[in-house]
Amino acid sequence: MIVTRPLLDQFARRITYLRLSVTDRCDLRCAYCMPERMTFLPKADVLSLEELHRMALGFIDRGITKIRLTGGEPLVRRDMIQLVRALGRKLGDGLDELTLTTNGTQLPQHAEALFEAGVRRINVSLDTLDRASFKRLARRDMLPQVLEGIDAALAAGLKVKLNTVALKGINEGEIPALMEFAHGKGMDLTLIEVMPLGEVEEDRVDHYLPLSAVRDELDRHFTLTPSDHRTGGPARYFDVAETGGRLGLITPLTGNFCEGCNRIRVTATGQLYPCLGGGEMVDLRAALRSDDPDAAVSDALDTAMRIKPERHHFEIDQRGAAPALARHMSMTGG
Ligand code: SAM
Ligand code: SF4
Repeated sequence: MIVTRPLLDQFARRITYLRLSVTDRCDLRCAYCMPERMTFLPKADVLSLEELHRMALGFIDRGITKIRLTGGEPLVRRDMIQLVRALGRKLGDGLDELTLTTNGTQLPQHAEALFEAGVRRINVSLDTLDRASFKRLARRDMLPQVLEGIDAALAAGLKVKLNTVALKGINEGEIPALMEFAHGKGMDLTLIEVMPLGEVEEDRVDHYLPLSAVRDELDRHFTLTPSDHRTGGPARYFDVAETGGRLGLITPLTGNFCEGCNRIRVTATGQLYPCLGGGEMVDLRAALRSDDPDAAVSDALDTAMRIKPERHHFEIDQRGAAPALARHMSMTGG
């Protein structure tokens, strides 16, 4: 497929990666992500399957080659597999990769259908292997379903990467065990610093764990060698000699990675955010509901390229301070 008008922002970054949130709803309530009584977007405002599909096709025409479906929990959306099948048909015809980020609870039912639709790799979020700790952190007793989901995904032939948010006083002591668990099943593990997105009950500063500290601790027990493995994302990878696996570190707070950014994000209601850490936004829902949706989506992408900021400005050092952004990660997707 020839892309006549590729997406280039004003800092000469080529944008090829869309993270598309298909719902802001979720069957878990991870304490760092959302409050127990989360206010979800009105269902009527959420884009329909047809709108999501049409929009994604417009993005592929402009040079988006990778789409990650996320949320909220993407697999709780009822027509999700239909969307995956529809987008899967573009694989090899403009789209190089279709993937998703999930909490894993619904994978036992959906793993095979995902593979059949063309998905080959997924990210599963898992912050602890301890059932009581999972129940406290995710506020739902669903660790067994997640573990079953991971096994179902592997059995279906999907390559799985685990993502873990490193949290002081919650899972910091468990990181070696999570790494050994992941590597034992042939999965990479990526650790992420908690980011100040949206109000939650607790102060995130209390649980903020810089990955520089995690790295120092891991270095005492494991041999980590910097790896040249890249996924086009912000993670830096290390090979771990003792486990034979790979560990990724994503450090939005202790190490800025915006220079190589290749992505944009769309919420389930069609708000296009060119940066996870910025307030800049273009309304795609209005574009999709206009008289000439295809032209309007393309124009919206041009606007997004003009307003994509050079970098984010997250900080998490002030106790009691308001989050950097009012919107939750469940809106823009992880
Ligand atoms: N529900 C799916 C899941 O948990 O994988 C997809 C959406 S979730 C918002 C995507 C990722 O964002 C998860 O790995 C989650 O741990 C992470 N996340 C959520 N809130 C975060 C925050 N405030 N800081 C850092 N990571 C966060
Ligand atoms: Fe749900 Fe994912 Fe947020 Fe946890 S991190 S509450 S699973 S959206």
